Amino acid sequence: MHRTLPSFMDMYRDLIAAPSVSCLEPTWDISNRQVIELLGLWLSSLGFHVEIQELERQAGKYNLLASIGPEPTDGSAAGLLLSGHTDTVPWDEGRWTRDPFTLTEADGKLFGLGSADMKGFFAFVIEAVRDLDLSKLKKPLRILATADEETSMAGARELHRFANLKPEYAVIGEPTNMVPVRMHKGHSTDCIRITGKSGHSSNPAAGVNAISIMHEVLGSLKTLEQSLKDKFHEPAFEVPYPTLNFGHIHGGDAANRICACCELHMDMRPLPGMRIDTLNDMLNGALAPIRERYPNALDIIAMHEPIPGYETKADAALVRLAEAISGQNAEPANYCTEAPFIHDLGCETIVMGPGSIRQAHQPDEYITLAEIKPAQQQLRELIVKTCF
Ligand SMILES: [Zn+2]
Repeated sequence: MHRTLPSFMDMYRDLIAAPSVSCLEPTWDISNRQVIELLGLWLSSLGFHVEIQELERQAGKYNLLASIGPEPTDGSAAGLLLSGHTDTVPWDEGRWTRDPFTLTEADGKLFGLGSADMKGFFAFVIEAVRDLDLSKLKKPLRILATADEETSMAGARELHRFANLKPEYAVIGEPTNMVPVRMHKGHSTDCIRITGKSGHSSNPAAGVNAISIMHEVLGSLKTLEQSLKDKFHEPAFEVPYPTLNFGHIHGGDAANRICACCELHMDMRPLPGMRIDTLNDMLNGALAPIRERYPNALDIIAMHEPIPGYETKADAALVRLAEAISGQNAEPANYCTEAPFIHDLGCETIVMGPGSIRQAHQPDEYITLAEIKPAQQQLRELIVKTCF
């Protein structure tokens, strides 16, 4: 039917063979252009209108939006957006027993970097669309491919640059074993840096000891942790409150010197609906008395742009539909996705895709052959129910 479109397995193989590692470490980081070009080629051959945008925040990285079907004339939200990220994490050299860029079939599995998380999803989507009569679409069907999800979510932060991107429903195909996910917490990582004044340990009062100040900071943060726990609650999560974690601390160099610098790295995970601003205000408020006591000694530095939490209501039409199609109840996830940014387009948003999160970011990443046909069928049903 579509002579220019490769088979499902050939698309899968080509996607895995096109390296698209994103990494904050520049020696690992590469452009996702090859993946974007493959998708552009295949989706245009199916009749989609394809737009490719280079990111403003990240040269050499691209988002792709492919659209087909009638747009509503009144500019209202309509149709379905199927979304995924084109990048992968780096691979552990020596821990893979197979070439990460060669799709390999063995033991009822397909191995390859990005096979589950989540380049393979695009092959699923295209396969689901392949035999549909797209001239019969009543609502727009859109496919979005983003860049740099694994690092800064830079691609998802630039969706406003696509004109008229107003889906009614969105599904992000991260590996959930096709279980619908309707909410997750947000994530922010901060460095608290205390700058004191060094000196000889024989007179501790001659300097300003950064470790001592950090001790006070930790006390205040423990109080903040407790009040987050007391004030906010979402029973759907296994950990039903916002969390705060101390992950790394370093200060000083020698026992006989007054410590001049101490750094704490911590992460916070707000509940859906909590604004990042609110969380930052709480953090600043908790440390304000220490700032007053030690002027210019305390800095709070965001280590990456925070990701908000998000929630689509349990009784939303898309959640109900996905539950019916998959036969599984919607769940919260304990990891972050691009969902909050896509949700901001104004659409009901879920995360649901083939493969398991347990294989994501692991050596010998795979999906099972057994899940291929059911997932293709379920995706096709989603498209038919929302767009035809
Ligand atoms: Zn992913």
